[in-house]
Amino acid sequence: MKFRFWGTRGSLPAPGPDTLVYGGNSTCCSIEHEGRHLVIDAGSGIRLLGAELMGPGPMGGSEDASLEVTLLMTHLHFDHIMGFPFFAPAYTPGAVIRLGGWPKCLKGIKGMFKNGRYDGGFPVSFAELPSKILRDEALTPPRFAWQGMEVRTTPLNHPQGAVGYRFEAPGGALVFITDNELAVGAPPPKALVEFCSGAAVLIHDAQYLPSEMDICAGRGHSEFRACLALAQAAGAGRLILTHHDPGRTDAQIEAMIDQARAEAGSLPVEGAREGQTLEL
Ligand SMILES: [Zn+2]
Ligand SMILES: [Zn+2]
Repeated sequence: MKFRFWGTRGSLPAPGPDTLVYGGNSTCCSIEHEGRHLVIDAGSGIRLLGAELMGPGPMGGSEDASLEVTLLMTHLHFDHIMGFPFFAPAYTPGAVIRLGGWPKCLKGIKGMFKNGRYDGGFPVSFAELPSKILRDEALTPPRFAWQGMEVRTTPLNHPQGAVGYRFEAPGGALVFITDNELAVGAPPPKALVEFCSGAAVLIHDAQYLPSEMDICAGRGHSEFRACLALAQAAGAGRLILTHHDPGRTDAQIEAMIDQARAEAGSLPVEGAREGQTLEL
């Protein structure tokens, strides 16, 4: 199973010279397994993923009637869905996009195309898309299978809610939890520790610094110390911090990761980088 980060930024894309290392696109990841493609979230990073799925050709891709993509949503906040109208497979006749995870994912995707949001909101309507975009009821939390791989979900602590995912990959479990607030200075919730138990890789939201939580508590994001506590309690093999704050430069993320490593003992810690791949 091959996992890849296409967007690691939280809240808003942040392109520019200060975000070249960790990336400027908002949340999107992909899993490739047995020749099939699964996507988690449709932040601005999904545009690049769509271009790669389409391959070289005029207008960024040739028409591939056999293209089938599974898209699991964590929730519908704008930074996690904003890229979908620029996802090339959606404009490909015959392509099938199966939506799952967050209960209202289809409604949310349709909403991105609604011109009624405000005058001139988007030039294309959902009904005009030539691909087939459907809610796949087989991809319903809290547990389902994808390509023979067991997938579990967990509810997260986030305004309006969100779901985290655990994939039982051949080389160990990968847990993806973004947009989740872990309480500062408190033990991690038992249910979440169980959900992350023994994961080879734990990817977790660490948008804020410990020093920012006085102001930022309640916004639904975590700081690295609480992530370390969760990873250690769960016996995770590796911790990758993501959903980087849009105002955080590469140098500042590097400093945060250095601090986390200094406190992590033997647990390997890193910052999620756009384009980074993991094999499991
Ligand atoms: Zn977010
Ligand atoms: Zn959110």
